[in-house]
Amino acid sequence: MKGPRRCVLCGGILGEPLFTNIRDRLRLSDRLWTFRRCQECGSGMLDPMPSQQELLVAYPEYYSLDQACYAHRVHRLLYALETHLFYGPIYHHSVRQVQRVTGLRGGRMLDVGGGTGHRAAFFQKAGFDCTVLDPDERALRVARERFGLRTISGLLETADLPPGTFDLITFYHVVEHLPEPVKTLQAAGQLLRPGGWVVVLGPVITGWQSRWLGARWIGFTEAPRHITVPSPEGIRRLLARAGLYLKAQASGSPLDEAGIFALSLLPSSSTPVAYTATRTAVRMLYRLSGAVLTLLLLPVADLACRVHRASIGVFFAQKPLQSEGSSSTHRTE
Ligand SMILES: [Zn+2]
Repeated sequence: MKGPRRCVLCGGILGEPLFTNIRDRLRLSDRLWTFRRCQECGSGMLDPMPSQQELLVAYPEYYSLDQACYAHRVHRLLYALETHLFYGPIYHHSVRQVQRVTGLRGGRMLDVGGGTGHRAAFFQKAGFDCTVLDPDERALRVARERFGLRTISGLLETADLPPGTFDLITFYHVVEHLPEPVKTLQAAGQLLRPGGWVVVLGPVITGWQSRWLGARWIGFTEAPRHITVPSPEGIRRLLARAGLYLKAQASGSPLDEAGIFALSLLPSSSTPVAYTATRTAVRMLYRLSGAVLTLLLLPVADLACRVHRASIGVFFAQKPLQSEGSSSTHRTE
């Protein structure tokens, strides 16, 4: 029964270990992890896979985190500043990019794994009729109460949603976390109307950061939350297996790109570590060092995006209208 481990993206056979002894950057998992490379699509993949229990303890409590970000006057100020200067522009970039590539100016949108709804709120403001789906009910409470978003608690595969009705289904930093991404993307295909769009954004193993930082890159140190670190080819094949056709490929926001490089070098500057540090001064110092490094890295990140060496890839795929075949992929940006 037990053959060679297969790639969950393309179905290819996994080859030699890529990196061993990877430690979770948030230290929520105390195990050491190994990534192997798929011989077919070149994606990185955890082997062995984490168990359900290992995944359960490896996710930070996003609700408590959100509360921590708003708990104290200093936190609120810091968080408002971060939202204004960092997250806001990144989410705004997402909306503009989707509008430009897909031509959509509104319509029914489902944001899969959208958690507290910060990004979805930007889409809602731009005219999309947005629903956030997430397994974390407490995170969804924030999406409802703070942003007035419609929410569904659970997994896409089992969600009670009307098939063939969505114009846009987005996966922002989600696919790399999925143990069975083909099933999830197939479920998305069912929910889309013919001609509807799927957007997948996440880390790609072919970017400059994976080359420069190797095992220190956040794409890998997010193990075991990151089950895969896809290659663009891996994403293309995944989408094709789900009956979706890749139409365009782009880079993420240079700010996001610079941010993940900074987080790779300074793991303690990440939200789950910094906002739960015991002393306010320590928290401020962590976040400030991350922000300064992000700004310093911005020109390099911007260049990487321009020369198509970005470490965050965005993939735009469409459900065929009827018996439409695969057509050429355009690089946008
Ligand atoms: Zn593969």
